[in-house]
Amino acid sequence: MERAEIFHYCPRCRIDKIQKNNDGSIHCLQCNLTLFFNAASPATAAIILNKEGKILLQKRGLNPGKGKWDLPGGFMLSGETAEEGVKREVKEEVGIEIYDLVYFSSAANIYAYQEIDYPTIDLCFIATTKEIPKPQDQEVWHAVFLAPEEVDLQKIAFPSVRLFLEKYLKQIKS
Ligand SMILES: [Zn+2]
Repeated sequence: MERAEIFHYCPRCRIDKIQKNNDGSIHCLQCNLTLFFNAASPATAAIILNKEGKILLQKRGLNPGKGKWDLPGGFMLSGETAEEGVKREVKEEVGIEIYDLVYFSSAANIYAYQEIDYPTIDLCFIATTKEIPKPQDQEVWHAVFLAPEEVDLQKIAFPSVRLFLEKYLKQIKS
């Protein structure tokens, strides 16, 4: 469900005179509050290569997409640059530093959490590392470097991540 749909009462005046607008906002007919939900949340992903050109993939330990493969990354925090956000997420998820960050591509995605759909805009970077990844939280079941030909696009958790990997694999083949 869309974020606006969970509101039945105005969060300011608590009256049930909520109007849902086409742009994804809600409007209170009582106190005139307009609350917007139309912006996508920025998130990051990283295609991290080791010195053999293998790609770091991680198996998800939590829903959404539990048991499927993902790239490291996640939601950006307020005030962060995309580069800072992706470095922080990689460190939090698999405990490694990444280098030589280059912006690669973006894709729109829907992140469903507790039955609420959060639209995201995922920014993908390519980076390198010399370190060995180790899962640092429950979100990551395990993390491995796979050769490009070992990457199974059917087992990727999110459409945006599948697009990034598809584009990258096509690019290194040509
Ligand atoms: Zn109100």
